[in-house]
Amino acid sequence: MRVNDRLDELYAIGEGAGANRIGGSAEEDRAHELAAGWMEAAGLAVEVDPAGNLIGRAAEPGAWTGSHLDSVPNGGKYDGALGVVAAIEAVEGVGRGAVVAFRDEERGCTGSAAFVDRGERPVAFVELHVEQGPVLEQAGAPLGIVSGITGMVRAERTFEGAAGHAGTVPMAVRRDALVAAAEYVLQVRDTAAGIDGAVATVGRLEVLPGAGNVIPGTVRVSVDARAPDRERLDRLVAALRLDPFFRLEPVPMTAAPVAALRAEVEARGLPVVELPSGAGHDAAILAGAGVPTAMLFVRSLNRGVSHSPDEKSSDEDIALAVDVLAGALARLP
Ligand SMILES: [Zn+2]
Repeated sequence: MRVNDRLDELYAIGEGAGANRIGGSAEEDRAHELAAGWMEAAGLAVEVDPAGNLIGRAAEPGAWTGSHLDSVPNGGKYDGALGVVAAIEAVEGVGRGAVVAFRDEERGCTGSAAFVDRGERPVAFVELHVEQGPVLEQAGAPLGIVSGITGMVRAERTFEGAAGHAGTVPMAVRRDALVAAAEYVLQVRDTAAGIDGAVATVGRLEVLPGAGNVIPGTVRVSVDARAPDRERLDRLVAALRLDPFFRLEPVPMTAAPVAALRAEVEARGLPVVELPSGAGHDAAILAGAGVPTAMLFVRSLNRGVSHSPDEKSSDEDIALAVDVLAGALARLP
């Protein structure tokens, strides 16, 4: 299968275990050279924009598709690369539109941000990507349609108690900051579990003074909270009484390209699974800039592991995804 051969070629670039095509590296350059050759072979007119993004245009204008070719260190075979390789197949098949390989996605969507800053606005954008999570595998569905890119906040909560001697202060009169923080950690879990699609994590506790024989006087708790849309993110922030120092707004996908994907999935008798994307993507940057945008997820095997050499999707699911992508592009203006 040509898609898989090309993924193998990209995966072989660089040293060490897994994909090693860090944004801005010679390895990312090499991946872009390979993809430029494949675009030319597909009859696309190839150009490189000032940010280094690779664009291959078919003879007729139409919807765009693509993803990124950079990887995290020791990354997987499919993250990003599949979206570019599949896009070349789909646009060659449809005969219109364009393929784009954005630069340097993993470190913060640098290429797609520069692309939208430059002012070009594709008529629509559909990104195919591996799910990087276990939802589709658990649902027994080969493909998923992304409803939106999850928003997130980061915050810190501080709990003040009274430090004291672990041996002399009776239990009844203690004000133990860690006990209060522990109750809050459970509240974080229960609150997120009660909001559909929300997740929240306490990943760091700082206990002061931090001695085994001293009642904790101050505890600082980190909170990472995420939800698929603004209303649910606001509800989560309010319920957890957070004052975030960082907030990334959720980005909804656009009705028309989402409907095109749904129609293609339904036409094949496949289950229609809509799910939010917990990870950021170039698609969020385009959607945020007003481009009508959708994402098609391909089932990740091995319980959804990603950013790892264990990342895996099946040949059958990939073939189906290319087919659905091409069909959706053909339905768009
Ligand atoms: Zn990716």
